[in-house]
Amino acid sequence: MTDRRLADLITTGTGGQIVILGFPFDEGVARNGGREGAKTGPERFRYWLKRYGTVRNPQWKVDLSGISVSDAGDIPPCQTLEEGHAALTRATENILAAGGIPFVVGGGNDQSYPNARALLNHLGGRPGGVINVDAHLDVRPLIAGRAHSGSSFRQLLEDPAFDGGNFIEFATQGAQCSAEHAEYIQNRKARILWLDEVQRHEGAVDSFRNALGKLTWQCQSLFVSFDLDSVAACDAPGVSCPGVQGLKAHDALMIAYFSGLHLLVSLFDLSEYNPAIEDERTGRLAAAVFYHFCLGFAMREKKS
Ligand code: MN
Repeated sequence: MTDRRLADLITTGTGGQIVILGFPFDEGVARNGGREGAKTGPERFRYWLKRYGTVRNPQWKVDLSGISVSDAGDIPPCQTLEEGHAALTRATENILAAGGIPFVVGGGNDQSYPNARALLNHLGGRPGGVINVDAHLDVRPLIAGRAHSGSSFRQLLEDPAFDGGNFIEFATQGAQCSAEHAEYIQNRKARILWLDEVQRHEGAVDSFRNALGKLTWQCQSLFVSFDLDSVAACDAPGVSCPGVQGLKAHDALMIAYFSGLHLLVSLFDLSEYNPAIEDERTGRLAAAVFYHFCLGFAMREKKS
């Protein structure tokens, strides 16, 4: 009993300060021409989480038993992806309304617009900010009027309730994004922090903290959206589109930690874990991202 794990603390339901919500859908990936398999992401995430992450972390001097974490389960299967998205927005919004921080595990990156929409509903006109940590921009147009895993942030930037000046693309890889899409983002007053840029200057972790800091001036609440394909394939091979380069595992964990720590971060989503491509290494990384978010949140609680 001296070596309890984070999973031992997690209760069932929506009552936690941090609430896990699964979005087991990958049709959005298929619509975008990607490889299917991310629908089992939430189930495998929970499996790897069972064994990882001590409650009392001696290095960080953090005791997670001071915070409450619950698991709201998954969005149930739906006839259409559109119904799944609508159910996701409702579930995420309900958690926010109850004062919890949703930690949404996909599924495809198409989950991020429904999640952002929930935050905007919750804010009711007050400004919200979004950072997309991703190798890609994900501002492709809808395909035949339908959303997909590459369209979430175009949907967000087209949303009249959202101000493009409150959006940052983080760790984007120029070789994987069209010039047209980069221009589209810049025309909406949003910012792109390229991978090379964030690695070259302050390093990815400090660059991310600065990005959070910039949005803090102008927003009431922040959403950090994390696509696992932003991490290099050596650390995160289990995604539809693994990167020959990318963030390091350590960057991913520190981004999660500083997101958990930041007073305004009220929503986090983790996308594109595809156990059909690679289960263990990427699954352990996904679990570690969640654990570090919780470590940061426990420190936030301690400070406030
Ligand atoms: Mn993405």
